[in-house]
Amino acid sequence: MSEPRNVLVTGGNRGIGLAIARAFAAQGDKVAITHRSGEPPEGLVGVICEVTDSASVDAAFAAAEEALGGPIEILVANAGITKDTLLLRMSDDEFASVVDTNLAGAFRCARRASKGMIRLRRGRMIFISSVVGLYGSPGQTNYAASKSGLVGLARSITRELGGRGITANVVAPGFIDTDMTAELPEDTKKAYLAAIPAGRFATPDEVAAATTFLASPEAGYISGAVIPVDGGLGMGH
Ligand code: NDP
Repeated sequence: MSEPRNVLVTGGNRGIGLAIARAFAAQGDKVAITHRSGEPPEGLVGVICEVTDSASVDAAFAAAEEALGGPIEILVANAGITKDTLLLRMSDDEFASVVDTNLAGAFRCARRASKGMIRLRRGRMIFISSVVGLYGSPGQTNYAASKSGLVGLARSITRELGGRGITANVVAPGFIDTDMTAELPEDTKKAYLAAIPAGRFATPDEVAAATTFLASPEAGYISGAVIPVDGGLGMGH
């Protein structure tokens, strides 16, 4: 592996974000994760960040840059939430808070990351979306809208900053074994398992592998892409 790069993973204290952070660290990169409370996972630099707050995002980047000794070259915008309910019952707050966290949160991080990347004349932005962003999902109008928004965000960044050595891509996981899916009702899990060609949920490490690939030198000409890690669930979407 060449020079270690400075990586920031939002929501890297657990689940998919933690697997991604550990995968970058395992290949020798310098990694900071954001968390909202408590202690960071062992062996990783932790910075406090609330992605719905621009000042908190700016402070987290400053702290990560200080700890890692330079600008962030790889941003993984992973922090996300669900607040599922049917359209008819969804409150303004349930819609707005999910979009504010998943989509506007990623925008705030990308905007702050772009400063350092433009100066470096290189950078990788990877947005963790979801198969439901393009496939749709009943009870998830807020979540699916926020996740498809990440595609427009990444593609516009690609057009704006592609000439400066910066790529922006989306990873669209299907069903991954984490706290988020542990909350799903058993019937829903069974129905999804039946619909997934691979016949199983994925591990967080399988999402991490696609993410580290998009940040690798070999992926330097891939930008504005949506890479599914969904066992075939979303094919064609
Ligand atoms: P988890 O619920 O396990 O973790 C979510 C992470 O996001 C936590 O670190 C959480 O921090 C952080 N987070 C949530 N809200 C905020 C906020 N406002 N500011 C800062 N950090 C925040 O989720 P997963 O690991 O399952 O999911 C990670 C990403 O992958 C999400 O974007 C999710 O939508 C996406 N995804 C997940 C799938 C799955 O099957 N699990 C499938 C497809 C996509 P804290 O610990 O403080 O709450």
